[in-house]
Amino acid sequence: MAAEIIDGRPVARRMQEEIRTAVAAYAAQAGGAPGLGVVLVGDDAASAMYVRMKRRACDRVGLRSEARILPTESTQGEVEGAVRAFNNDPAIHGILVQLPLPEHIDEEAALNEISLNKDVDGIHPMNLGRLGMRGREPSFTPATPTGVMALIRETGRAIEGARAAVIGRSNIVGLPVALMLANANATVTICHSRTRDLPNVLGRADIVVAAIGRPEFVKGAWLKPGAIVIDVGSNSVPDPESEKGYRYVGDVEFESARTAAGYITKVPGGVGPMTITMLLSNTMKAAERSLPA
Ligand code: NAP
Repeated sequence: MAAEIIDGRPVARRMQEEIRTAVAAYAAQAGGAPGLGVVLVGDDAASAMYVRMKRRACDRVGLRSEARILPTESTQGEVEGAVRAFNNDPAIHGILVQLPLPEHIDEEAALNEISLNKDVDGIHPMNLGRLGMRGREPSFTPATPTGVMALIRETGRAIEGARAAVIGRSNIVGLPVALMLANANATVTICHSRTRDLPNVLGRADIVVAAIGRPEFVKGAWLKPGAIVIDVGSNSVPDPESEKGYRYVGDVEFESARTAAGYITKVPGGVGPMTITMLLSNTMKAAERSLPA
């Protein structure tokens, strides 16, 4: 039987509607909408596009967004200065540093500058560390992994006690997803480029999260029948039939996987719409926390 599709778009729309209501209520109480500050360094086309998408999403829900766009040759001090200016601005409640930063910039030092209570991308080393520690709560969890967890919950299946396999261990996706699944009491295996016999690991997993960056890498035959499959991958592949000459595919071979899985996300239209929604949600949370009790 074909898997049920977990469609991220209606879930994201529903959440954005709730955020819009919360933004309006906040603005009425505080006299202005919550603000998101974005630091973009350099002229990478994909990063510029992500920043534009985030600004449009802010507009949709009524959040204010402010971007500091710095040239590629900016110094470490200038990048950190832009972050500190947002830290000190009471009209800015959330800060996002668009990654990747140019090679000469020390990313960890720049991210360390973000005030913990404005770290709406959950990327500050302290927030990531807290995510992995027993009995500690991060101020915010990162956007894409939070979206992944929301989509798994959409299935209504229990995470507690489930066997989960996360493929990928990056700081922004794989590692935090694995920590969040473990915090939700799944038994988690983290897979990466040196994992031996990946099909065997996946064949035992009730939940598979693929965050690899390799088009259609995971095959349906590797999956446990009925598994929940969340495909984070977003890979452009040549497609002469499309107007642009390319299309996006995930890290999972959708057609074979949908015959084995119980639930599966599509690319595009799965995790992607959730990522921005979680950023908006965290910004709203940061603003609410800034109100006097
Ligand atoms: P990344 O930093 O390049 O990490 C990729 C991970 O995959 C690494 O941990 C790597 O292992 C592992 N890997 C590579 N080849 C492998 C193989 N053959 N077998 C098993 N594991 C392998 O990528 P990322 O930033 O996490 O992004 C992953 C994907 O998610 C990309 O397609 C990206 O575009 C997409 N993404 C989507 C969203 C969204 O909102 N939809 C957001 C962020 C990222 P090692 O650690 O051993 O190198």
